[in-house]
Amino acid sequence: MTAKIIDGKALAERTLAELKTRIAGIPHRPHLTAIQVGENPSSRVYLQRQRASCEEIGIRYTLDELPAQTTQAQLIAHIEKLNAETGVHGVILQMPLPDGLDDSAAQQAVAPEKDVEGMTATNMGGLICGTPNLPPCTAEAAYRIIKSLGLELRGKEVTIVGRSAIVGKPLMLLLLGDSVTPTICHTGTLDLAAHAARADILVAAAGRAGLVTAEMIKPGAVVIDVGINRVPVLGDDGEPVIGENGRKKMRTVGDVDFEAALEVAGMITPVPGGVGPMTVAMLLKNTVASAEMAQKNAKK
Ligand code: NAD
Repeated sequence: MTAKIIDGKALAERTLAELKTRIAGIPHRPHLTAIQVGENPSSRVYLQRQRASCEEIGIRYTLDELPAQTTQAQLIAHIEKLNAETGVHGVILQMPLPDGLDDSAAQQAVAPEKDVEGMTATNMGGLICGTPNLPPCTAEAAYRIIKSLGLELRGKEVTIVGRSAIVGKPLMLLLLGDSVTPTICHTGTLDLAAHAARADILVAAAGRAGLVTAEMIKPGAVVIDVGINRVPVLGDDGEPVIGENGRKKMRTVGDVDFEAALEVAGMITPVPGGVGPMTVAMLLKNTVASAEMAQKNAKK
């Protein structure tokens, strides 16, 4: 068996095209503001991509760079200022914040209607109540990929590896709405392989390269690989390949042993090109949804 590779990039492109149409119907340009506290060279590329994706479909993007010495009170004051600005529809915080700042308290200070990452207690609560408003982007990305496959979900066994607030927990809640039977695995799980092998849909979101082996996959299962891991490129001798800069060459992989899994799974998302592009698309979708809500409330 060779699994069908699920094209997350193509699904993301279709989603972005739909968003362009929605944006054309909003009189004010949707506006996303990102807050970066201190210097973080590794997030530079990510921020550039965020800006490019926004601008490509007509979302205004602002990056507010705050100094590394910013105090918790100053950060909260900045978030509250953005909460009050009618022209700002989405606020995101680049994580992690520098030592001494409280990630969670800052995240919870974002107004729920501008919480385009879906991390506030209000938006999480909406998921539990079955009325999701702005769901966490990565969980919704995985969910939409699963929905796009057009499978009957009712009664399916779904195993999710990872219980984080951004992926495992919200994805479980979204899928419960489709009457699946979910199992969540985590670092306390005793027999990961047994839970994985039962799954009609297996979601890997642990951040551990090679954690999910082909032996753990039920033949024909749908495998959604959320993990993003950087691993060294190995040469024919099994040793890391050294690049021109003298450093180990690296590549991006998921949590699933992809090549081996292709022989067992029915469908599988690649890394890169699977959940990642859809996660960005969901961030933009939440920003557009937030701008639409603001427009509706302004008319009241
Ligand atoms: P996290 O560290 O907050 O959570 C990881 C979870 O995996 C935890 O619940 C932990 O209990 C579980 N886990 C770790 N090792 C395990 C093991 N050996 N067996 C069973 N469970 C194990 O991570 P996160 O923020 O949820 O991210 C998870 C992965 O998804 C990371 O690789 C991250 O880079 C990636 N990610 C991808 C996207 C995307 O767009 N594709 C977006 C966000 C995060």
